[in-house]
Amino acid sequence: MNLIDGKKAAAAIEQTLLERITLLKQRGITPGLAVVLVGENPASQAYVRNKDRTCARLGMFSRKIELSANTTQDQLLQLINELNVDPLIHGILVQSPPPSHIDEQAITQAIDPRKDVDGFHPINVAKLAMEDPSGFVPCTPLGCQHLLMSVGIETRGANIVVVGRSLIVGKPMALLLLRKGVGGDATVTVAHSRTRHLAEITRSADIVIAALGRPHALGSEHIREGAVIIDVGINRVPETSSATGYRLVGDVDFEAVADRCAAITPVPGGVGPMTIAMLMQNTVTACERLKNSR
Ligand code: NDP
Repeated sequence: MNLIDGKKAAAAIEQTLLERITLLKQRGITPGLAVVLVGENPASQAYVRNKDRTCARLGMFSRKIELSANTTQDQLLQLINELNVDPLIHGILVQSPPPSHIDEQAITQAIDPRKDVDGFHPINVAKLAMEDPSGFVPCTPLGCQHLLMSVGIETRGANIVVVGRSLIVGKPMALLLLRKGVGGDATVTVAHSRTRHLAEITRSADIVIAALGRPHALGSEHIREGAVIIDVGINRVPETSSATGYRLVGDVDFEAVADRCAAITPVPGGVGPMTIAMLMQNTVTACERLKNSR
């Protein structure tokens, strides 16, 4: 079994980004990312910290905006409007999930699609479906596709089962793998919580992409001998011996499938670092496009 190393692949992406950032800086431009966090979800706080740190490491400008849980929808919309016209900001991200009184769709739609580095705006979703490269693709599925390509796993003609149909992971993942060309051309099946005979379906896959948000939900009965597994899941499970009181596990039972699969991403250290690398890549691209269009 080969371990697909997300940290290594992310470091390689960062290296190419550094070159693009240097070129921008020579023109007096620094790519800027605004990350907005509403409320105090500990997992979200950790993600936001990580994004901030990565921006700093790459010499990018980052604005971390932490708002209290009782921020109103109007206040948040007002902030988005300001960021949309802020010349120092090229990418805007509102950390999901927001508190329940916030209409996430309305927030997504308020972001200028040219700064929508998360790729969730309807215009960018449509561009992905239409195979229009001028849009932004959501970072996690883009990271999964890069991981497969970085270790030379062929998707063309492969049977790929995506487990999960969320707008953040499952659906855009399926669209990406269906696209014509390198990293696409796959035969894609999307499974979800209403799917019957899940194990039978995933066992038919050359590549399984697990994005269910259920710790260790996929075991050896779901995976055929020689399959490749991309485990998107990040789940906190209680662990008394750990200082934090928890440990992170994926949606796949790593120990149970390690012997049968050809390659697998670890959790942590697989898809997670690639998601952040893709966010940085989208932000640099947004900056280049905005500057070239002026
Ligand atoms: P959601 O909860 O939005 O979606 C989960 C999907 O899995 C749904 O489509 C759901 O089906 C399906 N599902 C749930 N249970 C089952 C089951 N027993 N059998 C088959 N399908 C099932 O989660 P996300 O897509 O946002 O995230 C998925 C996982 O990926 C989470 O662990 C999350 O933490 C992780 N994640 C990791 C990221 C990273 O950077 N590595 C980034 C984003 C997410 P239905 O639609 O019918 O409810």
